[in-house]
Amino acid sequence: DRAANRPVPRPGILEIAPYIPGRSKSTGGAKLHKLSSNETPLGPSPRALEAYRATTSLERYPDGSSADLRAAIARVHGLNADRIICGNGSDELLELVARAYIGPGDEAIYSEYGFLVYKIAILAAGGTPVVAPEKDHTTDVDAILARVTDRTKVVFLANPNNPTGTYIPFDEVKRLQAGLPPQVLLVLDAAYAEYVRRNDYEAGVELAATAENVVMTRTFSKIYGLAALRLGWIYGPEHVIDALNRIRGPFNVNSAAMAAGIAAVEDRGFVEDAVRHNETWLPRVTEEIEALGLKVTPSVGNFVLIHFPEGGGKTAADADAYLSARGCVLRQVGAYGLPNALRMSIGTEEANRDVVAVLKDFLAT
Ligand code: PMP
Repeated sequence: DRAANRPVPRPGILEIAPYIPGRSKSTGGAKLHKLSSNETPLGPSPRALEAYRATTSLERYPDGSSADLRAAIARVHGLNADRIICGNGSDELLELVARAYIGPGDEAIYSEYGFLVYKIAILAAGGTPVVAPEKDHTTDVDAILARVTDRTKVVFLANPNNPTGTYIPFDEVKRLQAGLPPQVLLVLDAAYAEYVRRNDYEAGVELAATAENVVMTRTFSKIYGLAALRLGWIYGPEHVIDALNRIRGPFNVNSAAMAAGIAAVEDRGFVEDAVRHNETWLPRVTEEIEALGLKVTPSVGNFVLIHFPEGGGKTAADADAYLSARGCVLRQVGAYGLPNALRMSIGTEEANRDVVAVLKDFLAT
């Protein structure tokens, strides 16, 4: 047995299916429309780009406490900077939460079509993932509450959720929090918060500011257009922030990301423009794809989930290949248990129009 003669990872590690990111290349086409990772078509704020380019002293370690960035975030959002941790993408912060609060024998709950990083983070921490079924591709608070046991340590909730784009209103979030034992940490993953105009996500921040068992994670990868720099933040009670600070990497955010993040969070006009672009195109793309006879899950994010008819002979995989050969790169979501759907990020006007036109051709073939 060769395994006896070499190091083996601890139990559970080899059961983890690696996260497969959206492709960044097409298989053909004159233009490339990369709509596979919910990135913004508007790029970063010019001020953020300038701050990134002006970063100097690369021989020096970054400020390990991200103090200036935390101060900027706190100022803009009206929060306490001492209760923020910045991270290498919000992925890192989700993973820190799992490492700090979940161990072997512990359970953590997320929703059926919830963001895949939760499962990976729970398994990597040695815990047991518990999946709560959804209704209409939407988080079901009662299904989550019904799965709480005395081993439950964390509940992860993406709101809006990726890849479905669905959203539960704040009174449902509040009902979830109220129904959880006080020892269970509720993680509100608000990666797409800025896109939600009816903005009860500010109420979610308020919950993370007042409850002892709620944190919120945010990202600079989506509306701020800084995915390449890997930058996110978490807000929560002091005791949670203290625990996470004890185990995080000492220099987990780099200097260029910090500089860009400060300029980005302060450029509210740019964020507003990005919200408006999405508000124009999300409903149009949804309607135009529905007009082709495909079902689209109602989304409040910067992406839509497109369902292909069961047994119709035209599968999501076929559509994906057809689109990719014409320069339109979308995302297959079979890993989420949605084998016959594609996720499309809202792109530029040209990208959106091209996808609809190519989809129309595909359905006519
Ligand atoms: N949460 C959700 C729901 C997401 O969709 C994403 C991006 N795919 C993330 C967290 C992680 O974002 P990042 O690590 O880039 O901040």
